[in-house]
Amino acid sequence: MGSEAQSKAKFIVLLGAPGAGKGTQATYLEEELGIPHVSSGDLFRENLREETELGKLARTYMDRGELVPDEVTIAMVKERLARPDCAEGVILDGFPRTIAQAQALDGILAEKGHKIGVVPYIKVADEVLLARLAGRWTCRQCGAIYHQLFSPPKVAGRCDECGGELYQRADDTPETQRRRIEVYFQQTTPLIEHYRERGLLVEIDGEQPIERVRADLLAAIRANGRS
Ligand code: ADP
Ligand code: AMP
Repeated sequence: MGSEAQSKAKFIVLLGAPGAGKGTQATYLEEELGIPHVSSGDLFRENLREETELGKLARTYMDRGELVPDEVTIAMVKERLARPDCAEGVILDGFPRTIAQAQALDGILAEKGHKIGVVPYIKVADEVLLARLAGRWTCRQCGAIYHQLFSPPKVAGRCDECGGELYQRADDTPETQRRRIEVYFQQTTPLIEHYRERGLLVEIDGEQPIERVRADLLAAIRANGRS
C-alpha cells in the first residue's frame, strides 16, 4: 500500500451503548467524509429480511438482545470490508463489540496495510439510553433514524429524506432493550480501555443535541484520524 493511500485512509470505530446515537451520527459522517457507514446490526437485519441462513441464525440472538457469535459476525463484517467502497476508509458502527472482534478487525485492516485512525466513544447515561431506544423509529427504505420526541419526522410515520415508511425495530421491546444494555456493559465496555490504552479513544458527550455531538465528532476525527 502506497503512503498516499495510507495517509488518506480513515478507519473509524464508533463506540457507544445501544441508543448512544452511533447510527444517527454515522449517517452524517458518511456524507461529510465520503466513506461508507458499515453497521453490523444493519448487515444482520439485511440477512433477516432476505431470510438467509445467517439471518435465521442471527434472529435467535437478536430477538433476545444477545450477541451473535464472534465467528459468524467477524466473517460477515470481513466480507463487507473487502468490497471496493471500503478501500479508502469506513465508519464502523456496532462492530467490534468484543475483544475477539477487535483483534480480528486489526488483522483484517492490517492485511490491506490499514489501521484504525480514531475511536470516538459516544458516552450516554443508562437512563437516557432506555428513553432513546423506546422512541426510536427507523426508515424501512433508507435507514434514517428518528425519535418520536427528540428528533421527530416532519410527517408522522414518514421519512423526511425519502418519504419511506418508518418502523420500530423488533428488538426495541423494553425487555430486549434492557438485555442489550446489560450485554453491552458485560461484553463491550472492555473495548473502552482496550482502545484508550492504544491512544485511539476520544470521549464525546453524547447527551448533547444531535448537532453538537456531530460537531464534536467531526472535530475529533479531523484532529486524530489519518485524513
Ligand atoms: P445507536 O445506533 O447507538 O443504537 P441511534 O443512532 O439509533 O443509536 O439512536 C437511538 C435513538 O436516540 C434514536 O431514536 C435517535 O433519534 C435518538 N438520538 C440519537 N442521538 C441523540 C441525541 N444526541 N439526542 C437525543 N436523541 C438522540
Ligand atoms: P445494533 O443494530 O447495533 O443495535 O445491533 C442489533 C443486534 O444485532 C444486537 O443486539 C446483536 O444481537 C446483533 N449484533 C450487531 N452487531 C453485533 C456484533 N458486532 N457482534 C455480535 N452481535 C451483533
